[in-house]
Amino acid sequence: MRKTLYLKFILGYLIFFIFGFIIVATFVSSMTVEHYKREKADSLYKEATLIANTYATDLYNNEISLEVVKSQLDALSTYLTSEIWIINPSGRIIMTTAAPLDVEHETMVENFDSTITAGSFYTTGNFFGCFTEEMLSVFAPITSNFKVKGYVVIHTAMSSIHASSESLLNISYIMLVIFFLLSLIILIFFTEMVYLPLRKIIQATEQYAAGNMHYELSVDSEDEIGYLAASISYMAGEVARSEDNQKKFIANVSHDFRSPLTSIKGYLEAMKDGTIPHELYDKYIGIVLNETDRLIKLTNSLLTLNNMNIKGVVLEKSSFDINQVLRTTAATFEGTCREKRIRIELVLTGESLPVIADKSKIEQVIYNLLDNAIKFSHSDSAIKLETSEKHGKAFVSVKDSGIGIPKESLKLIFDRFYKTDLSRGKDKKGTGLGLSITKEIIQAHNENINVISTEGVGSEFIFSLPVDEDEEE
Ligand code: ADP
Repeated sequence: MRKTLYLKFILGYLIFFIFGFIIVATFVSSMTVEHYKREKADSLYKEATLIANTYATDLYNNEISLEVVKSQLDALSTYLTSEIWIINPSGRIIMTTAAPLDVEHETMVENFDSTITAGSFYTTGNFFGCFTEEMLSVFAPITSNFKVKGYVVIHTAMSSIHASSESLLNISYIMLVIFFLLSLIILIFFTEMVYLPLRKIIQATEQYAAGNMHYELSVDSEDEIGYLAASISYMAGEVARSEDNQKKFIANVSHDFRSPLTSIKGYLEAMKDGTIPHELYDKYIGIVLNETDRLIKLTNSLLTLNNMNIKGVVLEKSSFDINQVLRTTAATFEGTCREKRIRIELVLTGESLPVIADKSKIEQVIYNLLDNAIKFSHSDSAIKLETSEKHGKAFVSVKDSGIGIPKESLKLIFDRFYKTDLSRGKDKKGTGLGLSITKEIIQAHNENINVISTEGVGSEFIFSLPVDEDEEE
C-alpha cells in the first residue's frame, strides 16, 4: 500500500510531462510555423506592394527599361533571399531574378490562376509545379487605370521558415526540461510533507494494532497531516489510559470481592472444624450475613455502573417536585438517624420546586449523598438538606458536619472504588462506587455536581437540575 501511493504520484507526474512534450511537439510546433509564415508573408507583401507600385508600374507604363528593373530587383532578391517574379495575368513571366533576361523565349507558368491565394495574399506549395520544394509565394497586383496588369510574386523557401520555427521549438523543449527539473521540487515537498509523515503514521498504527500503545508518534508539522498524527497519538493515549483503568478496575473489583469471601470462608471453616463453638454460631452467622450483604451491594453497584456504560444513562425525564423527593428520602433514614442521634434539617425553597429530570435516578443520587452524610457524621450532629433556585436552575445541597474529606482526596472521591483513608474506620461496607454512579447520573442530565469539604469540619455536596418553568408558581 505504501509504495503504491508514491508510485501513483510519480506516474501522474510522468504522464503530466509526456503530455507536455506531446503538446509542445504538435500544437506549439504548428503554431510557431504558422506564426513565422504569417510574419514572413506580411513583410514580403510589403516589399511586393512597393515593387508593384513603383518599378512594375513604371515598367508597364514604359517609363523604365526591363534591364534597370531587373538589376534593382536582383539586388533586392539577394537581400531578401527570395526570388522576385513579375507575371502577366495570363501566366507569362515578364521577368525573374532567378534567371537572366531572355526576351526571345517566353516562359509561361502553366495553369497560372491568380485566385490560388483564396482571398489571401499568399499561398504555399510548389507554385503550379515551378519549384521542387515547398515555397511561400506572396502576390501583389500591379494595377493601372483600375485594371490588373500583372503581379509581383515573391517566392521564399518554406525550409527557412521551418528552420526558424525549429530553433524556437528547441528553446521550448529546453524550457520544458527546466520546468520538469524545477517541478521535482514538488516531488521533494510531497515526499517530505506527505509521504514520510504518512509512513510514520502507518508505522505507529501498526505498533498500536500490535498492542504497543505507548509507541511514540511524533510528526512535526502544523498542517492536516500533523493534526492527523496528533489525533491518532491522542487516541492511542486514550486507549492506553482506558486499558490501564480497566486493569485497575478489575484489580479493585477482585480485591473487594476477595476480602468478604475470605472472611466468610474463614468463619465457615472455623464453624466446621469446631474452632467456633455452637453457642457462638448466631454471632458469627450474623457477621457472615453482613459480609454477604456487602457482596450483594457491590454486585448491584457494579451492574448499575455497567448498564450506564453500555446504554449510556437512559433517562426517563418528567416534571416532579424536588422538595418532596428530599422530604421522602429524609424520612427513609429516620430509623438510622435516631440510632446515631442525627438531626436532618430541611431548608426548602418554596412550597414545591418543580424540576425536569429522571425522578428515580435523582432519588438514587439523594439517597447516596444522604447515606454518605449520615455514615460520615458524628453522633449528635445535624445534616442540612437545602434547595435553592437561581437563573432557571434548582440547586440541591447535602451538608454534614462529619469527618470531612482531605484536600488531596477531593478530586478522587468521584472515581470508582475510591475511599478516603479517613472513612475506612467509619464505613466498612462501603464500595467506593456510590459517588461515581451519582456523578454519571448528574452528567447524563448535562448538569454538575461539586463538593466543598474541610477535613474534620464537614462536607457539602451540591448539584444542579433544570427548573420546570411551566410548572412553577
Ligand atoms: P462509599 O460507598 O464507599 O461511600 P462513595 O463513592 O459514595 O463510596 O464515596 C467515596 C468516598 O468518598 C467514601 O469512601 C468517603 O471516603 C468519601 N466521602 C463521600 N461522602 C463523604 C462525606 N459526606 N464525608 C466524608 N467523606 C465522604
